[in-house]
Amino acid sequence: MNVGLLAVDSQYPNLALMKLSTWHKLQGDTVEWYNPLCRYDKVYMAKVFNFTPDYGYYVHADEVERGGTGYDLKKTLPRQIDCIRPDYSIYPQIDSRTAYGFLTRGCPNRCRWCIVPKKEGRLKPYMDVDEIAVDGRDNLILMDNNILASDYGLSQIEKIVRRKLRVDFNQGLDARLVTDDVARLLARVKWIKRIRFGCDTPGQIADCERATTLIDRYGYKGEYFFYCILLDDFRESFNRVNHWRAKGRRFLPHAQPYRDPDNPHQVVPQWQKDLAGWADKKWIFRTCEFRDFEPRKGFKCNEYFM
Ligand code: SF4
Repeated sequence: MNVGLLAVDSQYPNLALMKLSTWHKLQGDTVEWYNPLCRYDKVYMAKVFNFTPDYGYYVHADEVERGGTGYDLKKTLPRQIDCIRPDYSIYPQIDSRTAYGFLTRGCPNRCRWCIVPKKEGRLKPYMDVDEIAVDGRDNLILMDNNILASDYGLSQIEKIVRRKLRVDFNQGLDARLVTDDVARLLARVKWIKRIRFGCDTPGQIADCERATTLIDRYGYKGEYFFYCILLDDFRESFNRVNHWRAKGRRFLPHAQPYRDPDNPHQVVPQWQKDLAGWADKKWIFRTCEFRDFEPRKGFKCNEYFM
C-alpha cells in the first residue's frame, strides 16, 4: 500500500501524521509526503485551523481520510496508533535530540475563547514522559494545555527534573496554579529558552507577576513568555500586552488575535493585527511605543487611542 501525507495548512510538526507514518511503515507500507503528480492508495489530510483555506485541488487517492481541528474537533487516532512512537524522519528539521508529545490532555477550565475543553474534555493523564523521551531525545516540546492542574502532571514534571530533560511547555502554564512548592519545582526544570504562561485576562497579570516573582526567588534567570489573547476591548488588550514592556527583556508578551471556531469567515479587526504586529516583532516592541508604531504608511497607532 502506498500512503500520502498532506499537511494542508501548517508546516509545524504534526504528531498525528508522524504516528500514522510509523504505523503504516510497521505494516510494510510506503509513506511519503503527498505529491499531486502521484497516485496513492490512501492519503491522510491534516488541517490545524478552521480559518485557513482547505486544499483546493483533487486528491489522487482511492481513499482520503481527513483529521485535525480544522476538519473535526472530535476526531482522534485509534488507540493502537495513538500510543505509537512518532516517525520523526518525515520532518528533517527536527533534530535527533528533540521529541514532541503530550503528558496530559484536556483542561478543567472553560475559558470562553478556547476550544480545548470542547475538543479534549476534562484533564486526564495521557502519556508518561519516559514514553516520549526515547532514543536519546532529551529535548521535549510538550503541548499540554494545563499541566499544572493535575497531580499526575506535577509528578511528571518531577520526573522531568529527575531525568534532567529539557522542556518547553509550548501551550503555556496556568500562573494561578503556581504555589510556592510549584514555583520551587519549576525553578529546577531545565527549560528550553523560556517559561510560558497564559495572560488572557486583566486578573492574570497579577497572577503572572506573582508566579514569576516566586519562580525567580528560587533561582530561575531565564525568559518568560506570555500568551495574550486579544478579545473585543482594545484598551484592555493593549494594557495587558503593554504591561510587560516595562518589565524588561526577560518578559515577552505574545499577542494572539481571537479566532472564532464557529465562524471561519470572521474578520480579524485591524487593531488586533496591528497590536500583534507590534508586540510580536521584538525589536519594534522594545524600541517603539505602540502609539508611535506605524504599521502602514500614513497610519500611526496613536489613532486607536482617540
Ligand atoms: S485557555 Fe487554557 S486554562 Fe482556559 S480552557 Fe483553554 S487550556 Fe484551559
